[in-house]
Amino acid sequence: MKTALVLGGGGFIGGHLAKRLKEEGYWVRIVDIKDNHEFWDKDEICHDYVSGDLRDLSIVKASFRIERDPNHKDVIYKYSLLKQPFTIIDSFDEVYQLAADMGGAGYVFTGENDANIMHNSALVNLNTVLEASKTKVKRIFYSSSACMYPEHNQLDPNNPNCKEDSAYPADPDSEYGWEKLFSERLFMAFSRNYGLDCRIARFHNIFGPQGTWTGGKEKAPAAMCRKAAESNGELEVWGDGLQTRSFLYIDECIEAILRFMRQDKFLGPVNIGSEEMVTINKLANIAICCSGQDIKINNIKGQDFINKYGFECPIGVRGRNSDNTLFKDKIGWKPIQELYTGMEKTYDWINKQIKLKNK
Ligand code: NAD
Repeated sequence: MKTALVLGGGGFIGGHLAKRLKEEGYWVRIVDIKDNHEFWDKDEICHDYVSGDLRDLSIVKASFRIERDPNHKDVIYKYSLLKQPFTIIDSFDEVYQLAADMGGAGYVFTGENDANIMHNSALVNLNTVLEASKTKVKRIFYSSSACMYPEHNQLDPNNPNCKEDSAYPADPDSEYGWEKLFSERLFMAFSRNYGLDCRIARFHNIFGPQGTWTGGKEKAPAAMCRKAAESNGELEVWGDGLQTRSFLYIDECIEAILRFMRQDKFLGPVNIGSEEMVTINKLANIAICCSGQDIKINNIKGQDFINKYGFECPIGVRGRNSDNTLFKDKIGWKPIQELYTGMEKTYDWINKQIKLKNK
């Protein structure tokens, strides 16, 4: 039985990934600072759910330990039992590092959370890479972000450059992006110096059901679906709405991660995203179509935004799109689902969450 450790498995992508691995027959341990996954029972997504803070090295050390029953080698002990003197200690077949202090534009681009974002995520990555190396995990995945790409290549909303080799000279537009770039380099350094077998991907806006949809950390697709579902005729979009992005549906993201992990030659970094670039106003219109209602977009910006929210409108770079040429060349696969299809599924799920909340 193969073993997988999913760090940040209490979150959106980690939860979906852990569920898929469990369904495929892996023994799965999740570690997350949250006590539960918000939308799934623990046994739907893993065998062992550990509630722990990965900034704490002692938690990370214990999380990476695998101990088996000496008489039944397919019986792997839960984290809570690890102190007993078991005889066989080995390492995880696959580790997925998805834990990070993150959120949408309202969390990452206001500047208010910069210190926490950098400190928290860097500590998690420093601890993780060290223990992965010491315990000789067989392979580890690190989730970077398109936010590490330089701002100067993303000024033209119609023609952004996010090819993997455009990363340097570096100039991300957020501290979140700088931390991702630092941690990419950290994983690559452990790969060169200690032979850590890592795979590094740069996600471009992943969305879908079972993700954060309210509370300030939600991303644009979830925010648009919620606003459309709750609207009484108007939907507010931050900024002029002409900035462009692409959005990848969660199932295709998981497929891409697993295909990337299950090949031996290519370490990355590589983009995982969609190439269907749309303006944010178009994304809002798709959410409006999904709702079937007559809703008008209200673009709020400049002084009006400051008067309402007390800070400048956080919109990020003018244009960003995934470039999947490298992924296609190296892995021989690319995502094909249309944005509209994923948005319909996401809208339906968020609409249900709203109804449950208002019951
Ligand atoms: P998420 O916030 O839903 O999941 C991250 C999880 O990490 C959360 O459950 C959180 O509780 C956990 N976590 C944070 N700090 C922790 C700590 N100190 N100890 C233990 N657990 C901790 O985010 P997600 O959307 O699932 O993203 C997963 C990864 O992918 C992150 O690294 C993120 O930066 C990266 N990424 C995501 C996107 C996207 O569009 N979702 C885009 C680019 C990169």
